Amino acid sequence: MTEKDRELPYYEPVGNEIDLFERAWRNHLPLLLKGPTGVGKTRFVVHMAARLGLPLYTIACHDDLTAADLVGRHLIGEGETYWNDGPLTRAVREGGICYLDEVVEARKDTTVVIHPLADDRRMLPIDRTGEMLRAPDSFMLVVSYNPGYQNFLKGMKPSTRQRFVSLRFDFPSAEVERSILVGETGCSEDVATRLVDIGRQMRVLKNVDLEEVASTRLLVYAARLIHDGMDPVEACSAVLVEALTDDEDVAEALLEVIRASF
Ligand code: ADP
Repeated sequence: MTEKDRELPYYEPVGNEIDLFERAWRNHLPLLLKGPTGVGKTRFVVHMAARLGLPLYTIACHDDLTAADLVGRHLIGEGETYWNDGPLTRAVREGGICYLDEVVEARKDTTVVIHPLADDRRMLPIDRTGEMLRAPDSFMLVVSYNPGYQNFLKGMKPSTRQRFVSLRFDFPSAEVERSILVGETGCSEDVATRLVDIGRQMRVLKNVDLEEVASTRLLVYAARLIHDGMDPVEACSAVLVEALTDDEDVAEALLEVIRASF
């Protein structure tokens, strides 16, 4: 770990993603991160923004999000209207990173504003002011989506998708996940090993008994509570069982796995 790494938001690399991100950025290519929730996509973007020394604007997409929420709108103040940049516009003006989290949640008429930014025009037209912004070299568009939630092809035109360099995130290997738990929470190697083992046993149940399985995020929560002195079975019950199922039989079966591990 270098001196520089020490100052950056903690991120444990799982493959060549840091190199790929830097190359995409240098070559003005937008990046698509895909993978289940809680596996480090957001943390990765935060880390990379700090590593490259760029401002980061993150937008959590949802179906009420309008183009004006991204680009900006006129506001009224002291009897006058004035223009207020949205986060996408700010990122373009400042040459920073704009991260649209869960981009397929946004309506198509909203995501259409990113199209001219996602190809080699790298333009952002602001219809309401008549401005046409050209993104500076350091600007980067990053979007994420969770393929488990819905069909991305339905949510974003293939022609748009093909403008992105894509990077797949998945649950990390046991070794990397242990390092994440220790690095994030300061828990012991022993606790980390047991939690990672429980997580892996639970992930096998995906689509059998559980719709959603324990993400790295949830294992971090459990490690944090245990490190704080909470009984491990109680901590896992709250974080890994009740958060993932309402079915009492499934909950009892999961608790058995946890009791056998602690
Ligand atoms: P996503 O954006 O994929 O839903 P996040 O980036 O919010 O997931 O990750 C959730 C949490 O999991 C983070 O806050 C962090 O504690 C932990 N985490 C997951 N992967 C990593 C990693 N590679 N390095 C460091 N922390 C990680």
